[in-house]
Amino acid sequence: MKSNRQFVIPFKGLKVGKHDFVFDVDDKFFDSFEGSEIQKGTINTIVILDKKPSMLEIDFHLKGSVSVACDVCLDELEINIEYDSKLFVRFGEITEEQTDEIIVLSHAEHELNVAQYIYEYSHLGLPYKRIHSNDKKGKSKCNKEMLKKLDEYLVRNEQEQGNDPRWDDLKNLLNNN
Ligand SMILES: [Zn+2]
Repeated sequence: MKSNRQFVIPFKGLKVGKHDFVFDVDDKFFDSFEGSEIQKGTINTIVILDKKPSMLEIDFHLKGSVSVACDVCLDELEINIEYDSKLFVRFGEITEEQTDEIIVLSHAEHELNVAQYIYEYSHLGLPYKRIHSNDKKGKSKCNKEMLKKLDEYLVRNEQEQGNDPRWDDLKNLLNNN
């Protein structure tokens, strides 16, 4: 991950109470993370930081649209996402992540970079199944060209790996009929 300095919240200088921040991410943001499932995306994140005397309570509200690979045809699939999450920040001797929701920052820290959280929450906001929907006639909107190519690839793979002569006989039989 590159530094992503624009996602830093300098909490030390804030007064006790609630503070709002807005972070907009685009394709470049997801490019900066290696292995991101989200290929492209535009997400608006509203962060409400509630500074208390001894801790921080941070609410994230993400809303936007992202592109991932379809589970079936592997072509680009655009998905609208909306995801809320909460993060509690406590202070201690050393900086550590206690759970997904609680982190401890060393007393020496004076700012928090929320880029990693926005990245993780964007992925958590994705649906479990990512498949092109059907059109009004009930036909799949999956990319037919891609499906054809995938099918050919699978068949070729089967042929290259399947050296079982009985399989060849069967195929000859099918091809000749
Ligand atoms: Zn598809």
